[in-house]
Amino acid sequence: MTFILGLTGGIGSGKSAASQWFEAQGIQVVDADIVAREIVEKGQPALTQIKDTFGDWVLLEDGELNRRALREHIFKEPNARQQLEQITHPAIRSAIIQQLANATSPYVILVSPLLFETSQHQLTHRTLLIDASEDLQILRAAQRDEQSIDQIQKIIAAQMPRIKKQEMADDIVLNDGHIEHLYTQLETLHQQYLDRSKP
Ligand code: ADP
Repeated sequence: MTFILGLTGGIGSGKSAASQWFEAQGIQVVDADIVAREIVEKGQPALTQIKDTFGDWVLLEDGELNRRALREHIFKEPNARQQLEQITHPAIRSAIIQQLANATSPYVILVSPLLFETSQHQLTHRTLLIDASEDLQILRAAQRDEQSIDQIQKIIAAQMPRIKKQEMADDIVLNDGHIEHLYTQLETLHQQYLDRSKP
């Protein structure tokens, strides 16, 4: 079985930068955020289940998911989030398992902002946390997105505390310097992961 690395980090920590670096080394990356979108695409069984649970209003005229309407509904109805997650979480999990199993690179990475929160780390053999101070997270996310500092702070507050993630991760890379410094640290780990993935 292929060695599976779980990659995580809070918003703006540098997860995407790290996964792009691994991809450039020929390591395949399964992105939990992308999978989460794929499983509710038109024609997917999870989307039918969502429609059957909530009603036809969750679909746009062209049959795609009306994300905004669903988001607003969840905001108003506290139970709706749980109902939705009961549909999406198992679907995401099986799609992730399938994509990981299809990987052909020496090892494979599962990148997820909620790796520990959703127990997706249980699908992996080892975990790597990309870590950065909250100030840096805010600065980078604000530069990247059109989000206000207030919005980013709310996202950080909703994620698992940094210290808890540090306790749970097997490997930690502190991304508090130049991007080249991140890559140097990743190179060292990459060699270790290649060793671990040898049959
Ligand atoms: P995440 O995926 O964890 O939310 P990203 O990898 O998208 O974070 O990084 C957030 C932003 O900060 C991106 O625009 C990225 O290019 C930039 N960034 C990441 N690491 C560094 C670094 N060490 N130095 C400067 N900019 C960085």
